[in-house]
Amino acid sequence: MPLVNDCVFCKILRGEIPNTTIYEDDMVLAFLDIAPYNLGHTVIIPKTHCVSSTELDPEYLCAMIKVAPKIGAAVLRATKAEGFHIVQNNGRAAGQTVPHVHFHVMPRFAGDGVIFSSSGVKYDSPEAMQELASKVRTVLAK
Ligand code: 5GP
Ligand code: ZN
Repeated sequence: MPLVNDCVFCKILRGEIPNTTIYEDDMVLAFLDIAPYNLGHTVIIPKTHCVSSTELDPEYLCAMIKVAPKIGAAVLRATKAEGFHIVQNNGRAAGQTVPHVHFHVMPRFAGDGVIFSSSGVKYDSPEAMQELASKVRTVLAK
């Protein structure tokens, strides 16, 4: 899909908004996040507009996931971080605020205070867990 006018990441791709690029190739651009969880927090985007990873051409998806660990390792060395997340949010409920597919590479330091926590939800029973797995398998098989 071509770039669109009202998308902030498309604007970055068109050079209309300044960004701090750390990596670029034919298919992806990676730059420092403007509101980082930690210093070195990087966003990787495809050079095409698409809202969700479920609709993105797999070639772009592959190009992004291929560079994500390399970028993570580089950010880790540059920042002396001790670990990193690779995160990709789809939909508002999942925390997606920019409707242009992207991966986050987020460096972590022990005791840095960044919190990703579970809601504590549990399956009612092992059967309920099996039932849900079966439902998902059915949808996947379609
Ligand atoms: P999301 O919440 O959609 O998964 O992540 C979007 C990310 O893009 C956020 O972490 C946000 O800080 C970052 N972001 C939004 N606008 C800009 C921008 O104009 N420049 C940069 N560098 N990052 C941005
Ligand atoms: Zn876009």
